[in-house]
Amino acid sequence: MTTPAHSALYLSVPFCRTKCSFCNFASGVFSRQQFDGYVAHLELAMAGAESWVRANGGEFSPLLDSIYLGGGTPSVLAPDQLERLFQSAARSFKVKPGAEITVEVAPGTLSPEILDVLVRCGVNRVSLGVQSFVDEESRAVGRLHTRATTLDDIARLRAAGITEISVDLIAGLPHQSLESWSRSLDGVIALGVPHASVYMLEVDDDSRLGRELIAGGTRYHAHHVPDEALTVELYREACRRLNAAGLEQYEISNFARAGHRSHHNLRYWQRLPYMGFGVDAHSMLPAPIQGEPHRAIRLAWPETIESLLANTAAERTVVGERQAIEETYFLGLRTVEGLELVAIKEEFGIAAVDVYKERITELVARGLVEIDDGFLRLTAEGRLFSNDVFAEFLSE
Ligand code: SF4
Repeated sequence: MTTPAHSALYLSVPFCRTKCSFCNFASGVFSRQQFDGYVAHLELAMAGAESWVRANGGEFSPLLDSIYLGGGTPSVLAPDQLERLFQSAARSFKVKPGAEITVEVAPGTLSPEILDVLVRCGVNRVSLGVQSFVDEESRAVGRLHTRATTLDDIARLRAAGITEISVDLIAGLPHQSLESWSRSLDGVIALGVPHASVYMLEVDDDSRLGRELIAGGTRYHAHHVPDEALTVELYREACRRLNAAGLEQYEISNFARAGHRSHHNLRYWQRLPYMGFGVDAHSMLPAPIQGEPHRAIRLAWPETIESLLANTAAERTVVGERQAIEETYFLGLRTVEGLELVAIKEEFGIAAVDVYKERITELVARGLVEIDDGFLRLTAEGRLFSNDVFAEFLSE
């Protein structure tokens, strides 16, 4: 990895009004009394960012191309707490003029005071966790908003001058059918938002709904969850409808109108540096040394607020040459453009392509990847089985 002069900042705010049944993120419902201490922790972490990065052997760049506040629901913070985070970021780093500044907002949490803070602090992009435009589906997973709330929030964001709006949807929620999914897609398209993300429901034991599905039970409307074949169909339908409406797919889960891709998220797939602070936040820091120009350090903060506030150190992983090559493949393959094989040869040497030749040939034969004009990319089918493809690029 080369060493670009710019970095990016991610802040995790793990607080939510309710815990959605499908959610497998490190987030939860906490007393408001804990918010202040948490914000103070993030402020301290940002102030000490340079020494923290250097102590971990990484290269530090104070110049930020993008800032992303996610979680969790950053918009549940009190307005002054949210503002303190931005003031602290501005004190600790240099925010590039025109930097993309995104805040995740749950519909229904955008009070006039929070909206004022967003505008005052230069937030120019909001990612709305809508998940569904069908109220029965939202209710079934424990969300507190309705379709009307979402429409109102979007109208107020636009009136305040924030037009870079992304809407998240989830395919595979309880009670979803092709017909109801079509209404959610209609909602996104009719709103004319420039960006949308579509995720397929993840069934694992990190969410209540996932655990219930694994156990074969009926709590959390688990028996109304579409089967895998229908969920795949819903995802395919989203790709078809959104692409046709001008929201072009640019990553497995992301769609944007021309010029409206998320710069911050693109960094992750391009292996560009970023610093993350807060619960379960990750960092990627260039750390080249003599003979290892692609060396990097990855750091991950604890997944619980208790552990974070007890000053547990971030888990540190050194990314060597071999791992850097693997990451380049499985992160780059997430994007619709894929990877330019010549660029990989130039960056890592011919062996970085040759070593995968047989596996790539096999994946091409299975219809999961294609090589077109020198680019290796997932096919539409490959995007459905992306984890199987990525596994082929990992060492045993
Ligand atoms: S889906 Fe979003 S709002 Fe719901 S619990 Fe998870 S982080 Fe919070």
